[in-house]
Amino acid sequence: MPELPEVETVAQGLRRRALGRRITSVEVRHPGAIGGSAEEFASSIEGRTLAGVSRRGKTIAVELARKDSTEPRFLLVRLGMTGQLTVSPHDVPIESHTHVLMTLDDGREEIRFRDPRRFGRLRSLSQAELDRVLDKLGPDAQLVTEPQFLAAMRGRKGAIKSWLMNQGLIAGLGNIYADESLFEARIHPLAQPGRVSRAKARQLYRAVRKVLARAVRLGGTTFSDYLDIEGRPGAFLAKLKVYQRTSEPCRRCGHTIRRIVIGGRSSHFCPHCQTRPRFIADSTHSRRRTSHQAA
Ligand SMILES: [Zn+2]
Repeated sequence: MPELPEVETVAQGLRRRALGRRITSVEVRHPGAIGGSAEEFASSIEGRTLAGVSRRGKTIAVELARKDSTEPRFLLVRLGMTGQLTVSPHDVPIESHTHVLMTLDDGREEIRFRDPRRFGRLRSLSQAELDRVLDKLGPDAQLVTEPQFLAAMRGRKGAIKSWLMNQGLIAGLGNIYADESLFEARIHPLAQPGRVSRAKARQLYRAVRKVLARAVRLGGTTFSDYLDIEGRPGAFLAKLKVYQRTSEPCRRCGHTIRRIVIGGRSSHFCPHCQTRPRFIADSTHSRRRTSHQAA
């Protein structure tokens, strides 16, 4: 599932390949991929030029300008679980599950949105509508300041793993990078954010930044579906230290990586490097263990 590094890689790809180009026509092949009316989506962005690409957490907002209009539109991109946004030559055969085609300029290339599991969405928004969407998100995990990060931890009792994934507090982390950041900072996933020492909290802040920066440099992590704008997988998979490494030896100490379920999601950690704290989160279902390995 795409998280900040994968979404950032797609945003960088859009800037490189599509900025300044004009969307001359839009074909919606599966209306479910569009938030709102597919007809309004198409008519509101046709004829507009990609004027800027920004990202907050896992959400991309593409600013679409038009010569005869001072009001920008924004193309909001959410990749969901399996969404792929690519810039493809028009004559490359269209893969199954390609739901939206946005023709660029003279028609030789197009932006394609493909999404087998259909949790991703494209929307066309006004500035006010975009602001409302962004207001629900916390600061971006790459831009959050240390004081903001520490303040968001204060008094929180739930599992720190769930806290890291709460997009309303800090936007961008999902299961992969939350697990990797906690390992990097040597914090147990069931620790309570409000009970973590100041030194440990600062360690976590630095760990999040470090893990995300490394993953962005390597173009993100591909397990199955995620691809960059050219259709290439990310290279961070080989660098993962705990995520999806249940029963394998810890790369730091050799102890066996374990998996527990917290808030319905798998958490992977090293019980030796990430010792269980005296106070753990009170989420009752958080200690349930299962034998099969799932994301
Ligand atoms: Zn270890």
